[in-house]
Amino acid sequence: MNGAMLYGPYDVRFEPRPDPTIVDPTDAIIRVTATCVCGSDLWPYRGLEPITPPQPMGHEYVGVVEEIGSEVKTLTVGDFVVGSFFASDNTCPICQAGYQSRCVHAFPMGAIGTQAQFARIPLADGTLVATPDMPSDDLIPSLLAASDVLGTGWFAAVAADAGPGKTFAVVGDGAVGLCAVLAARQLGAERIIAMSRHLERQRLARAFGATEIVTERGDAGVAKIKELTDGLGAQSTVEAVGTQESMLQAIRSTRPGGAVGYVGVSHGVALPGEELFFAEVHLMGGPAPVRRFLPALIDLICTRRIDPGQVFDLTLPLDQVAEGYRAMDERRAIKALLIPASA
Ligand SMILES: [Zn+2]
Repeated sequence: MNGAMLYGPYDVRFEPRPDPTIVDPTDAIIRVTATCVCGSDLWPYRGLEPITPPQPMGHEYVGVVEEIGSEVKTLTVGDFVVGSFFASDNTCPICQAGYQSRCVHAFPMGAIGTQAQFARIPLADGTLVATPDMPSDDLIPSLLAASDVLGTGWFAAVAADAGPGKTFAVVGDGAVGLCAVLAARQLGAERIIAMSRHLERQRLARAFGATEIVTERGDAGVAKIKELTDGLGAQSTVEAVGTQESMLQAIRSTRPGGAVGYVGVSHGVALPGEELFFAEVHLMGGPAPVRRFLPALIDLICTRRIDPGQVFDLTLPLDQVAEGYRAMDERRAIKALLIPASA
C-alpha cells in the first residue's frame, strides 16, 4: 500500500509502505475510506515537534473492516467504522470513567499513521464504533470529523461545562474550535462567542451556531469578551490552539466559577500560579477521550441533526497529501480531506 511519511520540516512524501497485518488477536485491519490532515500534524510538519524520520503521519480515519483478529468480538468484516486517535480497551477503570484517551493500554494512532490506504487498529473492540449501516457518501466527511475534530470540540465544550442559559466563548478558529461552537449549540448554550479574524471561518462559526464574533485577540480579545458580558467574562471557555497566548486568553476570558476546556495540544505553555489562583476557574483538558462521545456523535450525524463535515473545505486524493499539508500550513484551508485511491 501507499501512505504519508514525514521526512523533515515541510517534507511529506506519499510512498510505498508495508501492508498492515494482524499483530495481536485484538487487532483489526481497515481499508481507509477517508482520512485528513490535523492541525496538530502541523507541529511536526513545521519542525516544531521532534520526529524520528521517516515518521508515519495521520491519526484520523474512517473505513471498512477488512480483517479481524481471533479475539475481536463486536466487529465483522465489512463493517463501516469510526475510531479515535487513541486506541483504547474501553474496559479499564480510566476508560470506564470516560477518559479513554488515557486508557492504561492507550496506543496513539499517529504511531501507525492513518494517512494511508490501510491501517491496523489495535484493541479494535474498544477503539472502533460501527455505524448502523453503510453510510451514504455525503455523510463520510462528518463521520471523519467525529474521529477527532468533532469529538475533541465536543469534549472541550463538555469540559467547559457548556449548557443552557450560559455564555460560551471559544479561542481558536481551527476545525476544533469551530466544532466546539457546534457542540455548545447542541448542548444548549445561550450565547456563543467565536474569536476569529478570518471571514470564512467566521461564516462557518455562525453556521454552526455562534451568536457573536470577536475579532480582537490577546488582551484586546479578553477586554472585548468582558465588554460583552457585563464585565464578568464567559461562563464556559474553550481553548483550541495550545499556545501561551491562547491559554491565558481563555483563562482571562472566563469569570470566577466558570470553566475552561483546553484541547489545543500544549506547546510551551507555562501558567503563572498566582494568576491561576485568583482566576478561580475550573480547568479541564487534554487529549480528548473521543471514544466516549462516538456513539452519540455517530447517531447525530447519521440522523442528519449535525453536519460537522463542513469543516473540510479542501478535498484531495490521498496521493496529493503534501498539498493538503501546504494548504493547511498556509491557512488556505481549514481542514483537508484525503481520499485514498482504493476507496
Ligand atoms: Zn482502558
